[in-house]
Amino acid sequence: MVRLRRLRRTETIRNMFAMDVPSRDRFIWPVFLVEGKGRKEAISSMPGQFRWSIDRLVKEFPAGVKAVLLFGQTEGEKDEVGSGAADPGGVVQRAIPKLKRAFPELAVFTDVCLCAYTSHGHCGPHDADGDIDNDAACEMLARVAVSHARAGADGVAPSAMMDGQIAAIRAALDDEGVSKTLLIAYSTKFASTMYGPFREAENSAPSQGDRQGYQASYRDPDTAVRESLVDEEEGADALMVKPALWYLDLIGRVRSRTLLPVMAYNVSGEYAMIHAASKAGFCELYPAARESLYAIFRAGATQVISYWAPYYDEIFQTANQTNRRLR
Ligand SMILES: [Zn+2]
Repeated sequence: MVRLRRLRRTETIRNMFAMDVPSRDRFIWPVFLVEGKGRKEAISSMPGQFRWSIDRLVKEFPAGVKAVLLFGQTEGEKDEVGSGAADPGGVVQRAIPKLKRAFPELAVFTDVCLCAYTSHGHCGPHDADGDIDNDAACEMLARVAVSHARAGADGVAPSAMMDGQIAAIRAALDDEGVSKTLLIAYSTKFASTMYGPFREAENSAPSQGDRQGYQASYRDPDTAVRESLVDEEEGADALMVKPALWYLDLIGRVRSRTLLPVMAYNVSGEYAMIHAASKAGFCELYPAARESLYAIFRAGATQVISYWAPYYDEIFQTANQTNRRLR
């Protein structure tokens, strides 16, 4: 008789047939930067996550984090095109060399978008008809990416979902002599309800309308996969599916169509939901986080961008203990 329970009879046997624990090398921690000194401001919807001034981040940088994805914002003037995003004196551009000096082994990636710098909160400027001007956005995004690359970023990650943004940025990086910079495409990024806590952290909610005109639709998964295939053709070094947990099928589908790395962005709402559920007593925090992260890797993600990154030890080092508590 087939008895599958033989394969899980004891803990040692279960461990023997288990997939490997996801390595900490595969985690990228998204970090919100703010201007000023000594700032570490709690984000109410994301327990354990903060807005950091550069000095405080360097001082309290969590041990064991191997890579970061930096998000900037400005407390200065915002304008129609988001020109602050390309300012060589901006908070992201200043943070990169400081982090690299303090932690030479750290991989420093940057989010490339305009929405935290435009007066209207959209990811590109408007054209005469009031639509988001795709090609003008690409031009600005290329300038932002070059400014990050010049500051020493190991990789730039454009997240605006404009057509042609990868080609535009790839060409600009080559033309400006910063061709060693990785180009990580937020290639299949959905318009999602899961970004709420992030927008609180970043002050980046659109003042009018929403982003369904440029971000992918969860009701049209085929086009969402094509978004990644097009970005590969345009010269991306890595692809991405965002969000992760309600899009595990898309992670798998994109992975089956490419040999590029497929990152998954385990977004703010996913992090906040697990915290909220655990606070309400519906599940235990770290075991629930662990189960969800296994799901993302099992679906086919090769790296994960996750707010859990600084909590890797709590989530995975105590694995045997938490296994015993699964019921
Ligand atoms: Zn944006």
